[in-house]
Amino acid sequence: MKKYEFWFVVGSQLLYGEEVLKTVAQRAEEMASLLSEKLPYPVVYKVTAKSSDEISDTIKEANYNDNCAGIITWCHTFSPSKMWINGLANLQKPWCHFATQYNREIPNEEIDMDFMNLNQAAHGDREHGFIGARLRSSRKIIAGYWKDEDVHERLGKWMRTAVGAAFSKEMRVMRFGDNMRDVAVTEGDKVEAQKKFGWQVNTWAVGDLVSEMSKVTESEIDALMEEYKASYDIATDNIDAIRYQAKEEIAMEKLMKREKCSAFSNTFQDLYGMEQLPGLASQHLMSKGYGYGGEGDWKVAALTSVMKVMGENANGSSAFMEDYTYHLVQGSEYSLGAHMLEVCPSLAEGKPRIETHHLGIGMNEKDPARLVFEGKAGPAIVASLIDMGGRFRLIVQDIECVKPIMEMPNLPVARVMWKAMPDLTTGLECWITAGGAHHTVLSYDVTAEQMHDWANMMDIEYVHISQDTTVESLEHDLLVSDLIWKLK
Ligand code: MN
Repeated sequence: MKKYEFWFVVGSQLLYGEEVLKTVAQRAEEMASLLSEKLPYPVVYKVTAKSSDEISDTIKEANYNDNCAGIITWCHTFSPSKMWINGLANLQKPWCHFATQYNREIPNEEIDMDFMNLNQAAHGDREHGFIGARLRSSRKIIAGYWKDEDVHERLGKWMRTAVGAAFSKEMRVMRFGDNMRDVAVTEGDKVEAQKKFGWQVNTWAVGDLVSEMSKVTESEIDALMEEYKASYDIATDNIDAIRYQAKEEIAMEKLMKREKCSAFSNTFQDLYGMEQLPGLASQHLMSKGYGYGGEGDWKVAALTSVMKVMGENANGSSAFMEDYTYHLVQGSEYSLGAHMLEVCPSLAEGKPRIETHHLGIGMNEKDPARLVFEGKAGPAIVASLIDMGGRFRLIVQDIECVKPIMEMPNLPVARVMWKAMPDLTTGLECWITAGGAHHTVLSYDVTAEQMHDWANMMDIEYVHISQDTTVESLEHDLLVSDLIWKLK
């Protein structure tokens, strides 16, 4: 990961004289330093903006600086917005307008016209807001006091999202083989994906992977086996199967590092020369931050990797997921999510077990080793990215994960159980109406608001299914949205 930072650009003007500008600069420095302590990425005070040239130069610099993941603006005094137009019109980085104020309270005794001239955020930020609206700029607006925890929480989430956008622009995806035959929803326009998201999606032959596997040494496998032993309980006597997964993991990671890829997809229909579908191998790679999509689903692979970066510590609890089956008992309705093998252990409650079982689907000569566990309880989201033809649509649904209500002792894969919002059947009708896929990214730490912001940064359609969604309102929104996106 790059050393990402955010630039703090504070609006003012020359009208008030040197003294005021000096105070503004000092305070901006103080605010940036506190925010840097509280937020996940540093805030660098860049300039007190007083002229069009100053703003244009700062924005040009921000566009070309790889470490700058976005700008945060705020107007301490009034800052006439026409001098912001030339700069903002060229801004290529995410923008947060932070509507705050240096002082928390109106000071009863101290307040006079000097105080009023210095502390003008209430009207300065409105002038600044107008130009954002007038330019139709994509921006995040966060209002609140700069020392408050809930404000730090929101700014932090926006920062993580902006880093997700920066990461996305450099992402490379390695496809082993093509998509599963005849499947529609895993298809998509890779040229459009690169234009919108920056994703470079390319294919490598499974033969390249098999050849790389043949070069993996026993001592490399021994070292990875130690990592497996430290992280997981080994609940099988079939050590050879685990060592084979280790060999697959080492080879895949070498290829991805060589090609600077951070996500990959494969398919059970194309494992030529391999004894097992990578299960444990893919799961352990995911825990290290690699995105994965089954059946050649490169869109979900890339989105998983981006959402991991947007989560806690830049490798959050986000993972490739698939809707598998329902529990339709009235009043106790649940969805069960899993996959053939490949569920990321970042979702696990407790220590995952390594097991080996027969896998009937695909070309497995041997029983593949995989991690088996239950998902954590807690609020989460599922996100699906689909290609509507001419545009991408991101669908996000709020869910509440629960401890699975039964043990399912014969289910040989990791599983997550949840309640969908607003309820299972309404949520399902909404999901199907919007065209959401069976493959999703499930995340415990990336919020729907972050995904909305990310969709705005990427300039794609966003659909949110929440506690308040009805099928009727959603149908109406999709109809309007379809018209708008055809015009865009
Ligand atoms: Mn699948």
